[in-house]
Amino acid sequence: MSYQSARIHISGIVQGVGFRPFVYNLAARLDLKGWVRNTSAGVDIEVDGERNVLDAFVQALSEEAPKLSHIDELTASFGPASGFRSFDIVHSASIESAFQPISPDVAICDDCLRELFDPSDRRYRYPFINCTNCGPRFTIIKDIPYDRPKTTMAGFQLCPNCEREYADPSNRRFHAQPVACPVCGPHVWLEIHNEQNTRDDNAIQKTRQLLAEGKIIAIKGLGGFHLACDATNADSVAELRKRKLRVDKPFALMMPDLAAIEEHCFVNDAERDLLQSTARPIVLLHLRPESKIVEEVVPGQNFIGVMLPYTPLHYLLLEEADGFPQALVMTSGNVSEEPIATDNDEARQRLTSLADAFLMHNRDIYIRCDDSVVRVFEKQIYPIRRSRGYAPFPVKLPWKVPPLLAAGSELKNTFCITNKNYAFLSHHIGDMENYETLKSFEQGVEHFERLFRVKPEGIAYDLHPNYLATRYALERAERENLPAVGVQHHHAHIAACMAEHGLDGSQPIIGVSFDGTGYGDDGAIWGGEFMIVDYKSYQRLFHLQYFPLPGGDASIKKPARTALALLWSLGIEWDERLAPVAEFNQEEQKLLHAQLEKKINTPMTSSMGRLFDAAAALAAVRQIVNYEGQAAIEFEALADPDEAGSYSFGLNQNEVEVRSGIESLIKDVKAGVHTSKISARFHNGLAEMIRMTVNKMNRETGIRSVALSGGVWQNLTLIGRTLSLLRSDGFTVYLHRQVPTNDGGLSLGQAVIAVSRLRG
Ligand code: ZN
Ligand code: ZN
Ligand code: FE
Repeated sequence: MSYQSARIHISGIVQGVGFRPFVYNLAARLDLKGWVRNTSAGVDIEVDGERNVLDAFVQALSEEAPKLSHIDELTASFGPASGFRSFDIVHSASIESAFQPISPDVAICDDCLRELFDPSDRRYRYPFINCTNCGPRFTIIKDIPYDRPKTTMAGFQLCPNCEREYADPSNRRFHAQPVACPVCGPHVWLEIHNEQNTRDDNAIQKTRQLLAEGKIIAIKGLGGFHLACDATNADSVAELRKRKLRVDKPFALMMPDLAAIEEHCFVNDAERDLLQSTARPIVLLHLRPESKIVEEVVPGQNFIGVMLPYTPLHYLLLEEADGFPQALVMTSGNVSEEPIATDNDEARQRLTSLADAFLMHNRDIYIRCDDSVVRVFEKQIYPIRRSRGYAPFPVKLPWKVPPLLAAGSELKNTFCITNKNYAFLSHHIGDMENYETLKSFEQGVEHFERLFRVKPEGIAYDLHPNYLATRYALERAERENLPAVGVQHHHAHIAACMAEHGLDGSQPIIGVSFDGTGYGDDGAIWGGEFMIVDYKSYQRLFHLQYFPLPGGDASIKKPARTALALLWSLGIEWDERLAPVAEFNQEEQKLLHAQLEKKINTPMTSSMGRLFDAAAALAAVRQIVNYEGQAAIEFEALADPDEAGSYSFGLNQNEVEVRSGIESLIKDVKAGVHTSKISARFHNGLAEMIRMTVNKMNRETGIRSVALSGGVWQNLTLIGRTLSLLRSDGFTVYLHRQVPTNDGGLSLGQAVIAVSRLRG
């Protein structure tokens, strides 16, 4: 056996996750000498030893790596020994232009949780306890390499006790950058009417008392402020809705533990795992009928968004006690659709009219990050909003790509930057309809480009000329003289689904993009699209038949209008017995009719989202919506799972015809058939229509793979029925599993299409 040196480079998520102490201890175990260090490209190691021991070391590096790490690549080369006499952790090296993935924020670990409630521990009840296995990451990091001076912890000088732990390789807090204690770290305080009321544990106890009394409190968390109140107090929840200007849209809840969640909701194994995962997302669960959560939390829905505490502060706030609410509403701290407030002064300004008091702290949030929202479908995660706990973890791409920026969509915006094999999807930016959200978008883009050392060589954008993200992309492309790649909305949806499944795009796929909106090549609003897709181009083989959308947005907010327009375009009379018709008096009907005849401000649409709106209105479920998708969500919630009947939809040259289906629906409504049956028949009919259309496309092209994307696919009833039909016909069907099926995943698709087009 020969005595040699091994030089090892590891990339992936290897910083801020206890990787160096792991290497140090492994080297000690195998009695190897050398060093380890962080660089901006990952972790470098050099060790001397017998070759067989070095091989065992390399193997153990990947096999025993810390739970939170994620190794993408490990390379080792061997040469003559360097003569090291000890093993050291040496200073981080900054490599120009090198980059690496950054860990998302991580929920408090079991060890820290135990110490938090251990009276003999020096961090007993300290709301910022953390270690190398847990705590804030993405939201406090200003730059790489990940070291304390480059985080918002830079201003807190370690006390001797913390310093000792930080420097001790055998300690769980060795090089834990956010490490802190009551002596040297951040603290909390309560403000009422802009005056400090109490601090530390007293502030937390006072907050609990106010919550129990029904008050609304702004609480600073990991990625921003929450507005909290007692979810079992109808008056408090109603008051919160009033102040937040939020009608009907569901609020998320936080409950102290799994037992509490199971008391209110049905939870299966996959949901339990997600609730307890280190990402701690909001999981959408079915509510138990006997639950005491008040209806004001989720009007008209049969599922509810719940999460477990994820910071030590949350655990202290939700500690169980007699008389303390078992569930808190924890909704983002903002007015209506503005970005979530993150900084103390900003919160004082923007949330004063919303909150009765503020639980503040002095650990700055560098980048805002909303809670993530997920569902479980067929025992696997089905993301609805990918943000805290997931961002900025990258999606791995099937090929190496140039540095690009994809600007994303208007609603539920995320952007995406690419480099090497990675697509870094941003945290949730929100609806780009106001100045604040645009600012937040611009700051986010700047931050990601710095963090991941990307200077975009091209920018992808949605074809909709009025999207703020599109305008940003075009202006910037012109300013920096970069190629700009316009991407059709539904092409991007399907490409996003293909990319996250690692498809290389050499085989085209059948894409079914069902969505609320999406600017089409002909200027119409597309959203019921059947396409043959590869990364470069698409062919639109079938689409939902066009119908008018009088007033555009006015119809989106009022499904009754959409229903009447649909009937008008199908030549079906406006019968007063139908709920949407009864919504309008004679005069209004006359005006609407004239608008349709003269096509005044009346875009045409093939949107499946709007067809759902019209169907829900005709079934008397909802005539006016207070948030996007409300009519469809409530219509789906009513569907009878045991109903086998269905409405039939036709197919002509290139269109899905809806007349026969809508006529049957109206017949059922007039005959007094129960809404649960009507809803089920509508869903079943759509699934059968998809089966028919996909089979027709297969006969024309021979393609046997199908990707489902677009916001309508948040409808699990439709997915369930469609999947079983397509699978029984032998199709391979791809669903979103890493990024949302709604516009939150769109930027990924834009990015891979731009890569493909720019390659020529
Ligand atoms: Zn910990
Ligand atoms: Zn300390
Ligand atoms: Fe979309």
